Amino acid sequence: MDFALSLEQQAMVDAAEQFAADKIAPGYQAREKSAQLDRELLREMGRLGFIAPEQLEEFGGSEVSYLTSGLIMEAMSGADFNMAYVQLLGSLNTQILARYAGQEIAQKWIPRICKGEAILGVALTEPGSGSDAANLQLRATKADGGYILNGEKASISAVDQADIMIVFARTGDKHSRAKGVSAFLVEMKGAGVSTARYEGMGQHAVGHGSIFFEDVFVPDEHRLGDENRAFSQVMEGFDFSRALIGLQCLAVARQSLKESWQYASEREAFGTPIAANQGVTFPLAEAETMLEAARLLCYKTLWLKDQGLPHTTEAAMCKWWPPKLAFEIVYQCLLTHGFGGYTSDYPFEQRLRDVLGLQIGDGTANIMKMIIARQKLGEI
Ligand SMILES: Cc1cc2nc3c(=O)[nH]c(=O)nc-3n(C[C@H](O)[C@H](O)[C@H](O)COP(=O)(O)OP(=O)(O)OC[C@H]3O[C@@H](n4cnc5c(N)ncnc54)[C@H](O)[C@@H]3O)c2cc1C
Repeated sequence: MDFALSLEQQAMVDAAEQFAADKIAPGYQAREKSAQLDRELLREMGRLGFIAPEQLEEFGGSEVSYLTSGLIMEAMSGADFNMAYVQLLGSLNTQILARYAGQEIAQKWIPRICKGEAILGVALTEPGSGSDAANLQLRATKADGGYILNGEKASISAVDQADIMIVFARTGDKHSRAKGVSAFLVEMKGAGVSTARYEGMGQHAVGHGSIFFEDVFVPDEHRLGDENRAFSQVMEGFDFSRALIGLQCLAVARQSLKESWQYASEREAFGTPIAANQGVTFPLAEAETMLEAARLLCYKTLWLKDQGLPHTTEAAMCKWWPPKLAFEIVYQCLLTHGFGGYTSDYPFEQRLRDVLGLQIGDGTANIMKMIIARQKLGEI
């Protein structure tokens, strides 16, 4: 077992951290106010190879390991959770396109996503089906040369900023559940597609909302994978994104802890720095301990993927524990900063609202625990 980064990995992490600190961190709070991602900054991230770096070179990636991709994700997320969301979407969705889109579609879109020129979202949830995703109702009806989509998707990230969307739709009969769902690549500016953003707690720069499909024509070539098999084929990519989500959230906690140690050593109360009190330092020390354990879990999950070994159970662990832990650590860091932490003079209140979303998005903790329990019971 070797925990050291290679020289190449270290160089990439250093470059990503430097870029994140200089270019991304300063606009974190301003982008929340503008409720937009910075597209020019995304292009710069793309030029430097920070979006979907694990992709094939022929698609504009750098062919780094999944673990290295996670390290780069982590480097960026501590500076701005929301800009890093585009990395998450890029890694999850280019992997799906590379595997299930035809060559022409893959060649058209993957390089643009890697370069930060296009954002590709994923639309699975509907007003009546979230955890029970196999119950989705959005209909794709076969037509000459393609399909006609009708229905609504709900709570979709980057709803009005994404250029294209992977949309899950029912192609089987209404009782077919997971065995009657197909996935399609849909251009968001196409005829019949409209969106409505929600007022939400956090992640304002990303934005969430509904997408409405009214007689939207999607050509046959835009179907991803086989008809009716999207659940068994396309959704397998979610294990990768679950490990990345873990690191994305933990990076926010790590940055918050770093700032809190500094603050505790400078802020004085009762004539001494507050760091002189174990009541201040012990919660931070406990947080460091759990942060370390959770990061290693995420690294191991990505390492398993790199080895081609099963990692669904570990990925589910990454998706429920690290987002919850990150929320608790940021909360502790906010308290360490006293009244200042409660204001937007510091980024903690925004970080708290931003990371909370991923205790729900991409599957709740209960659903992740169901995956773990199913696996463990199956081993008996
Ligand atoms: C920040 C954010 C980003 C998102 N981004 C996207 C996106 O880009 N694309 C997309 O498709 N969706 C997205 N979603 C939607 C998200 O995937 C769903 O909200 C999630 O899967 C839960 O579905 P639901 O909200 O309908 O809750 P429900 O399924 O109605 O569940 C409600 C509660 O009941 C619990 N529950 C449900 N069933 C069970 C069970 N069998 N056992 C125990 N507990 C259960 C859940 O854990 C939850 O606490 C996002 C959501 C958020 C908050």
